[in-house]
Amino acid sequence: MRLYTYLFNGEERVGAERGGYIYPTEFGSMLDAIRSDEIRVSYENGIAVEKAEIYAPIPVPQRDVICLGINYAKHGAEAAQYNKEAFLREQPFAIYFSKRVDRAVAPGGIIKAHSDITERLDYECELAFIIGKDALDVKREDAAEYIFGYTILNDVSARDLQTRHKQWYFGKSLDGFTPMGPCIVTADEVAFPPKLDIKSYVNGELRQSSNTDYMVFDPAHVIAELSAGMTLRAGTIVATGTPEGVGMGFDTPKFLKAGDSVVCEIEKIGRLENTVEA
Ligand code: MG
Repeated sequence: MRLYTYLFNGEERVGAERGGYIYPTEFGSMLDAIRSDEIRVSYENGIAVEKAEIYAPIPVPQRDVICLGINYAKHGAEAAQYNKEAFLREQPFAIYFSKRVDRAVAPGGIIKAHSDITERLDYECELAFIIGKDALDVKREDAAEYIFGYTILNDVSARDLQTRHKQWYFGKSLDGFTPMGPCIVTADEVAFPPKLDIKSYVNGELRQSSNTDYMVFDPAHVIAELSAGMTLRAGTIVATGTPEGVGMGFDTPKFLKAGDSVVCEIEKIGRLENTVEA
């Protein structure tokens, strides 16, 4: 299923797409849909996807998003070149950090520039997976059963804040820094582990082009490792890191400017386009 959160009869509703139309389910919230045993769709009262007002699939995450840092080797190299002190490290273990999301930015929505506190605004196209049932002590071989589905997340980052404060939390968590969407593709539609082309464009220029198969630590590793000590509740969002090609990775860094269009694309999920606040 391709599940959207969208405006239906004046209210937020979860809908399922078929043939270019979104049809309402009984659920007003994606978190309720995730926790339910079954998502039923009547395939009546459809709205064309391009005409629908679409929100981020989980507009208000219940908890901070769990993020993987430096989870593609080539992105590790470009980050270390940008700032050795902040990013150069041996990496026998996964790097985890969190990202606060006050409200996730909808497809087509605005990335806030926060130009009063940052001059180094950057994009990170990432595959995110959503936990489908509470996970504790999950074995690697069972991890796939705990994934509800996948979406695209742009881990917008203020590089100056990210590096200045050592912990990445503040520089990743500003309001309007988490575009997400356009939909959640349920796990049954994606082979595991996911091997999906992942790309980003700024003003039409291809910046990132990789495949999620190049992840250092895959979703099964992450679920097994974290759930060995912490309960991952249903609805938890995990952003799996970004490949090379972010703005700070260029010899002359290409940070985002007011009015820039940023497109994140992942095979089988779709396209998430947002504009930097002008
Ligand atoms: Mg990231």
